[in-house]
Formats: sequence, C-alpha cells, structure tokens
Amino acid sequence: MNFNTKVIHGGQQHEPHTGSVNVPVFLTSTFAQRTPGELKNGYEYSRGANPTRQALEDSLASIENGARGLAFGSGLAAIDCVLKLLSPGDEIIAVDDLYGGTYRMFTRLFDKYQLKFTFVNFDDVSKIEQHITENTKLIWIETPTNPLMKLVDIKAVTDLVKGKNILVAVDNTFATPYLQRPIDLGADLVMHSATKYLGGHSDVIAGALVAKTEELGEQLHFIQFASGGILGPHDSYLVLRGIKTLALRVQRHSENGKAVAKYLQQHPSVDKVFYPGLEDNPQYELATRQMKDFGGMVSFTFKSGKKEDAIKFLEQVKVFTLAESLGGVESLANHPAMMTHASIPAEKRAELGITDDLVRLSVGIEDIEDLIADLERAFA
Ligand SMILES: *Cc1c(COP(=O)(O)O)cnc(C)c1O
Repeated sequence: MNFNTKVIHGGQQHEPHTGSVNVPVFLTSTFAQRTPGELKNGYEYSRGANPTRQALEDSLASIENGARGLAFGSGLAAIDCVLKLLSPGDEIIAVDDLYGGTYRMFTRLFDKYQLKFTFVNFDDVSKIEQHITENTKLIWIETPTNPLMKLVDIKAVTDLVKGKNILVAVDNTFATPYLQRPIDLGADLVMHSATKYLGGHSDVIAGALVAKTEELGEQLHFIQFASGGILGPHDSYLVLRGIKTLALRVQRHSENGKAVAKYLQQHPSVDKVFYPGLEDNPQYELATRQMKDFGGMVSFTFKSGKKEDAIKFLEQVKVFTLAESLGGVESLANHPAMMTHASIPAEKRAELGITDDLVRLSVGIEDIEDLIADLERAFA
C-alpha cells in the first residue's frame, strides 16, 4: 500500500462480529476467560491491550513503516517509556533545540536517576561523534526542531552509529510520517505527540512510539504494561480517526505554511523567518532531500527586536488563536519564550536563539486569504 491508502487501511480490519467498518470503542477494562488463562485473541486486561488501542497501534506501525506501534496517554508518556529502556550511568546525546517538555523531563526528572544528557547542535554530524562514549546508548533527534525549525540529517546520524549499540530515536511530531519516515532513514524508534498532527483536531492528548523491530517493540510494550501510561479507548479512536485524513491535512498545512512563510519574508516589520521550505534557508537542500514537503510550522522575529511588538501582534490576531500546541486544523499562534518554552532557563533560550520577539505559528487548513488578511491586520 502507498501512504494515502495506509492512513486509511493500514493494519485495519472490519469488526468480525458485525462487519462494522470502523473499529468500535471497546469500553472495557477486562475480558472474559472460559477457563483460567485461556484468552480470546490475546486480550486479558486493557492496560496490556485493548482492541481499539490495538487498531490505532497497528495503524501507527503501518504509516511509520515499523514493526510495532504503541499508544500512550501523552507524548511525554511515550518519551518516559523510551528512557526506561536505559540504566543509571547510560548517556544520551540529544539535539539542543528540543521541545520544552522533553528538555524538562531530561534535565529535571531523569537526570536524578543518573542518566547523563548531553545537548549538542546537530548541524554538523561530526559534533555528535565527539560526544559518543562507550556509555552512549541513545541519540535523541527532533527534526524540524521546535520552535526554530532546524533540521537534523537523520540518515547521516544513523550512518554514524551503524554497528554501535546505540539507539536512534526521532521525535517526528512536527514532520509527521506524511513528510518524513525516520525508520526508512535508519532510525530505530519514532516518537509522536499524537496530540498534534496525528490527532489533528486539538481534541485529545496522546502519544505514540513506533519501533523498527519486533524485539524493541516488545521491550517497550513491557515497560508500557509495567508502568501503565496507556491511551484509553475513546482517545485511541479519536487519534485513529484523525490519522485517516493525515495526508490531506498535511498537504494543505504545507501549502498554507509555505504561503505564510513567503508573505512574512517580504513584510517590512519582519526580520527572520524560520521555515525549511524557503529557498534561502541554509538547510533547504537537506529539507528537499529528507522531506516530501515542509509542513505548517513557521516562526519569525520582528525587525524591532521588541518583545512588546510580538505580544501586541499576538493580542491582535483573530483567525489565528493565541494558544499553546500545534498541528490542529485551526491556526494557532504562540510566544515560545513565555509559553511553550518557558521551562527552558532564559540564558539557555538566548543561547539557542529563542528570543523574546519570536512568534511561532501553527498554520491551519483555513483559506489562505483569510490567514494572510489576519496577519496583515495584526501587523498594522
Ligand atoms: C507537544 C510535543 C511533545 C509532548 O507531547 P504531549 O502530547 O504534549 O505530551 C513532544 N514533542 C514535541 C515536538 C511536541 O510538539
């Protein structure tokens, strides 16, 4: 199956008893056994497996070209599960421009379990090599990064660690498997905040992992089962429903994102525009090689460099909603320094380039004329 078919049919079956085209929402915590230990189709207790979650997990594995999908109560619960593969003393090399919540979990939660995190600028893959030691067990990639839309060359990283006992995990939340499939580029593991583009309608918090191999999938499933961060059946259904229109939505997000980036680029009040699909972006070549298109996330700064200008702008937009999160059908605008990335210390933010005049847009699938008119009015 090709991708647009997989988002609808990948791993899916009609419900065997009634022929129901969609998987029912199986609201059950437990499953009847005829005699002790004899399970129907492997179902025992919904923390271990639930048919609605299973349908979603099979879809996830299918669209990311992996062996096993797992659905979690949030994106962060999915990352938590990955880190529990590791032991005290293990080292993780992570890209330095990370989602704020991931950074918080790494530095304030798992740090105290003696996991050692090194944050590296992945622009140049040789910089990663310098930090690899015999204790390095995991490389954590986000591409494009949030909020500065920097790219990491996934293939170059997986080539670098080939033959070493190091897992490469990619947070594929921003790109989605429509634009980029990390497992095809050699990654061992893909993670999603399914809250964003996979769900796609800003109505659910959910997370996902897809493992390249059955073996890794089984290890992760054991951790999920043993620590319990699963996604419930209702929410699993919502994400599964969202995935069916993923290809269509991301196509439109990408068209609109590109149009907004081009509009911002020529606006006299705008200084920098961060969007991998602009031809003068230093990573444009990598973007066209690694991604099918460039998605709907665009960040920019003001010529004035003033925080007040960013705040006034955000107070004025109307079609764009000032809110955290991203990836839904509706357009959102956000001030990373005060909202999504407030958990990163100010000096660290400055070092990364997350300045106080930076605005991040999640460009939705509305009519582009209305989006541009809204931005135009807010600038005025
Ligand atoms: C939102 C987000 C997360 C965290 O996911 P939740 O579903 O909010 O727990 C992780 N990574 C990225 C890139 C995100 O945007």
